[in-house]
Amino acid sequence: MTSPGTLYAETARPAPRTDPLDGDRSVSVAVVGGGFTGLSAALHLAELGVSVAVLEAHEPGWGASGRNGGQVNPGLKHDPDQVEADFGARMVAFSGNAPNVVFDLIQRHQIACEALQSGTLRTAFHRRNLAGLHRTAEQWARRCTDVSMVDRETIGGLTGTDRYSGALLDRRGGQLNPLGFARGLAHAAMQAGAVVHGGTPVSRLRKNGGRWHLETPSGTVKADKIILATNGYTGDLWPGLRRSIVPVYSAIVASEPVPDNVMPTRSSLYELGQITVYYRKDRDGRILMGGRCVQRDISRPKELQYLIDYAVRLWPALRGIGWTHAWSGQLAITADHYPHVHEPDETVLVCLGYNGRGVAMSTAMGPELARRAIGGRDADIAIPVTGIKEIPLHGLWKSAVQARVAYGRVRDFLGL
Ligand SMILES: Cc1cc2nc3c(=O)[nH]c(=O)nc-3n(C[C@H](O)[C@H](O)[C@H](O)COP(=O)(O)OP(=O)(O)OC[C@H]3O[C@@H](n4cnc5c(N)ncnc54)[C@H](O)[C@@H]3O)c2cc1C
Repeated sequence: MTSPGTLYAETARPAPRTDPLDGDRSVSVAVVGGGFTGLSAALHLAELGVSVAVLEAHEPGWGASGRNGGQVNPGLKHDPDQVEADFGARMVAFSGNAPNVVFDLIQRHQIACEALQSGTLRTAFHRRNLAGLHRTAEQWARRCTDVSMVDRETIGGLTGTDRYSGALLDRRGGQLNPLGFARGLAHAAMQAGAVVHGGTPVSRLRKNGGRWHLETPSGTVKADKIILATNGYTGDLWPGLRRSIVPVYSAIVASEPVPDNVMPTRSSLYELGQITVYYRKDRDGRILMGGRCVQRDISRPKELQYLIDYAVRLWPALRGIGWTHAWSGQLAITADHYPHVHEPDETVLVCLGYNGRGVAMSTAMGPELARRAIGGRDADIAIPVTGIKEIPLHGLWKSAVQARVAYGRVRDFLGL
């Protein structure tokens, strides 16, 4: 079952066959969640010769991994100097290189997913944001040669709109068809020896005789270690984990193919504003426009009229163009805006909380989690392992997010 309403269900490569678990099975490592995190971890474990099974409640890529904007963005929410001060230079290098991990995997496994390392643009329309972008660019320029600033005229030419006063271009980024990539990862993991069960929700984790028993409606998987890779769809499998993140919805609306002078560049783009709007032009010339939305699943373009109106504001030539698909999904936000790796037990690994930048980061975490899961001398990983911390007043998140979105929209409108 694909996620509801997505364009990708029509444009992605076919899904590999991933039958539900039927009976009992024993593996070294069981992975809960078949998104980029779980599938990339499983692929790398299988390549290391480890027996591994992925248990996914729906189908590989059903969660955020098969519904996202397809923007392969380098770095983290915080600037490199801040990341280095908080966690050291290794984390900066790791997050900056994450898109290369994605594009290298695609190349190595010949995954058909419309991948294009065409760069990421971060655009500013307020002077305050432009100064921030210059700071970010200067910090990256001390570390690599892939990042530069783009002036008003150039960004106007690249996008076909005069909305922006400048942009940061990061050539490490790019775009892909995310459901195609998730399915390709699942296929590659299976080719390498991993087992992937779709339609297999894990309802309970139980330790028995030193091994984990992962209970599902159609059988039990016994494993020495488990990796929890459930991100914005995290439930109550592990105590406190659900309340350590805020599962925020984001949504995308897709147009019919648009004229060539609308967004002539194939770079991915996200705006720096109070409310992030992100978009790209896909292989077929459609605009895929994303942003925050009501906190529920949506499937009709009309429900994202404000994004459609905004697209027309950027490119008046889009007035009257058809918008054919709309969908939403949940991503995980953390209190400190960093991804989190937890090890609440020496046989349990958790990785989640990519804060809307998970395409590259979650994929790049795969080899890290695999290395950590098999232990040994190289088990040290790029993201430090921390304890699970519940977010205070977690029950209020829904109304807080709605209020924050409304407040941000007003500030962006007023140019504050
Ligand atoms: C609309 C939208 C747009 C986005 N745009 C971008 C973007 O352009 N660029 C970017 O970098 N990031 C983007 N993101 C974020 C990015 O998609 C995520 O960070 C990333 O996909 C997380 O991958 P994951 O594998 O950790 O989680 P997911 O892909 O969400 O996978 C988690 C899986 O766990 C499964 N699961 C949960 N509980 C159980 C259980 N008990 N048993 C079995 N299975 C279970 C779910 O079914 C789900 O498939 C976006 C997210 C959304 C929702």
